[in-house]
Amino acid sequence: MSHFIEGLDRRQTMLLPEHLDDYVDEHNPVRAIDAFTDMLDLAALGFNAHAAATGRPGYHPGLMMRIYLYGYLNQVQSSRRLERECGRNLELIWLTGRLKPDFKTIADFRKDNGPAIRKVCQQFVALCRNIGLLDGDVVAIDGSRFKAVNSKAKNYTRGKLRQKLGEIDKAIERYLGELDRADEVFEQTGTVLPGARMERTLKKLKHLQKEATRYRSIEQRMDETGETQVSLTDPDARSMATTARMPRIVGYNVQTAVEADNHLIIAHEVTMLGFDRDALSMMAVAANDVMTTDQLIAIADKGYYKGEEIVASEEAGISVVVPKPMTSNAAARGQFDKADFAYDAEKDVYLCPAGEDLVYRFTGQQDGKALKTYWSGACTGCVLKAKCTTSKERRVRRWEKEDVLDWVQERLDKDPAQLAVRSMTVEHPYGTIKSWMGATHFKMRTLKKVATEMALHVLAYNMTRVMNIMGIPAMIAAMKA
Ligand code: SF4
Repeated sequence: MSHFIEGLDRRQTMLLPEHLDDYVDEHNPVRAIDAFTDMLDLAALGFNAHAAATGRPGYHPGLMMRIYLYGYLNQVQSSRRLERECGRNLELIWLTGRLKPDFKTIADFRKDNGPAIRKVCQQFVALCRNIGLLDGDVVAIDGSRFKAVNSKAKNYTRGKLRQKLGEIDKAIERYLGELDRADEVFEQTGTVLPGARMERTLKKLKHLQKEATRYRSIEQRMDETGETQVSLTDPDARSMATTARMPRIVGYNVQTAVEADNHLIIAHEVTMLGFDRDALSMMAVAANDVMTTDQLIAIADKGYYKGEEIVASEEAGISVVVPKPMTSNAAARGQFDKADFAYDAEKDVYLCPAGEDLVYRFTGQQDGKALKTYWSGACTGCVLKAKCTTSKERRVRRWEKEDVLDWVQERLDKDPAQLAVRSMTVEHPYGTIKSWMGATHFKMRTLKKVATEMALHVLAYNMTRVMNIMGIPAMIAAMKA
C-alpha cells in the first residue's frame, strides 16, 4: 500500500453535482464579476447592447466584459488563451453560461470598445466611492514607465539615426578602400584576390547601402511630420528614461492617483510623455473629482514640481505636497542660492545673507510668466560679493504667484513625513500590475489600444483590492444595496 495521498480512479463512476452553480462557492471572485457586470448600464457606457434585427445574433457585451474581467483578474490577457479557457475552465463556463466566442470576436471586442471599457473602469471607482472606500483625504500621484511591444532596436531618435548613419559611412569607406586596394594589387602584381572574399565585400556594401537608405527614409519621415522619435512596431511608443540610474525603455508613461487608505487607483492616464512635470494638476483634479473629501491632499515627488501645475492644483482647492528639486546653478558654483534670500511679504523685499534689502525694481515677462526683479544698491562694496554674484549686483526674480509655492514649501517643512506616504501608497499598485503584465508589459499597439489595456489592468487591480478588503459576499451585497 502506498504511503502517499492517492487520487481517484479515472474510470470510477461518480455522482457530480447537478448544477454548474454548485462548483462556484460564494467566495469565488467570478460571483463578484457577475454582480458588477449586472449592475452596469452597458448601453449608457457606449457598448452596443442592442441585438441585431437580422443576421446571426452576436454576443452580448455583458458576456464579453465578463470574459475580459475574468481574464485580467487571472492574468490571462490573450484572446486565444481566453477562447481556450472558455471551453475548459469551470469558472468561465459558469460565468459565460457555456458560451465560447472565438478569439477574433474576443479580440475585436477589446479593440472596438476602448472608450466604453475605460468607462467601466471609472464605474468601479464610482462604486468604491458609493460603498465608502474613498472617504480618506490623501492621494499619491506618480508616473511609471511601462514597456511597449516596440523593441529598443526599432525606435529611432535623430541622435541615434545620426550615429547609425555615421557608422555606416565609416564602414562603407572601409569596404570601398578594400576594393581600391584590391585594384592596386592587381595593377601592380597581377594578383587577383579570392573571388569569395570580393563577393563578401560587395554583399556587405550592398547591405550597408540598403540600411543607409532605410535610415534616411526614417529621417525624412521625421522632417515631414516634425516627430522627434519614430517607433516602427508601435508608432505611439516613445523612448523614455525610467530613473536616472536605469536604462531607457521604449513604452508609455502611465500616470496614476492612488488613495492612501485602501491603495485603490482612483484615476489613471496613459501618456506618451517621458516626464511627469506637466501632469500634476490633471491627476490631482481627476482624483479630487472622485474622492468624497473637499480637503484633498495630493502628494507627488519632485519630478512634478512645476509652478503653473502647483498653482492650478491649489486653485482647484487641492493641497499639494511636492518637494522642490535642488537644481540651483548658483549653489552648484558654490554661490548663494535663492533659498539664502528671505522674502519679506509685508515690505515686498528680499533680505540677503549680508543683511541688505533687495528692493523691487521692475516686472518683466518670461515664458508667459510675470517675474518681479529685486536688487540692492549695496552689492558693489559688499564683502560677500564673491560668494554671491559676478555681475554688478545680485538680482533675484520672483514669480507673481510665488506665494503659492511658498505655502506649499511651508506645508512640506511642517510635515516632511508626508513624502513617505507617497512611496508607500503608489509602489504597491505599480508592482502588482507589472508583475501581472509579465516582462513585456503591454501586448497591444498604439496609445488608444494601450489605454484600453491599462484600464482593464486597473479595473482588475481595484477589484482584487476590494475583494481582499471587504470579502466577496460583502462586496456583492454592497453592489446590490
Ligand atoms: S552681493 Fe549684494 S546681494 Fe549679495 S550678499 Fe552682498 S549685498 Fe547682498
